[in-house]
Amino acid sequence: MRASKKCSGCQEVKSTDMFYVNNASVDKLQVCCKLCDKLRIVWSDMKRRCYDKTNSHYSRYGGRGIAICKAWSSLDVFMEWCKANGWREGLTIDRVDNDGDYTPRNVRFLTRKENTKNRPHKLCEVEVRAIKHWCKTGMTQAKVAKLFGVSPSLVSKVFQGEIYASISL
Ligand SMILES: [Zn+2]
Repeated sequence: MRASKKCSGCQEVKSTDMFYVNNASVDKLQVCCKLCDKLRIVWSDMKRRCYDKTNSHYSRYGGRGIAICKAWSSLDVFMEWCKANGWREGLTIDRVDNDGDYTPRNVRFLTRKENTKNRPHKLCEVEVRAIKHWCKTGMTQAKVAKLFGVSPSLVSKVFQGEIYASISL
């Protein structure tokens, strides 16, 4: 019979290979299962980005006023919500509205790859003007993209005025 253990996070009884090793504990396993442990890290990383001024990401989160909804100050509530809303191992937490808070309405889970892809590439005004300029001269969008180290689709969006429309040549 395979050994099992009750997770103190999700309260589920799981096989012991679902727990990380912790040599300091009595049974040499962590009190929470791997899944709960990973979610706890997601939660504490999120809190650090928003509230820990010494965190390297703080300026893009807490420093811009991004906060976490009150209910999620409880790890249990947060974990329960995540599990009920499709979180699984390997997914990162993402805000739909980049200027919005971490709230049930503004959060989704993405793979790390999707998350990087979805992050808007921030261009400065000079770059936007230059991209528009080069496109207008007839340079191919692929070439312009290479020149600025961005994707051709981003160049196209800039040129068509889908993004950064307020910056004109
Ligand atoms: Zn668990």
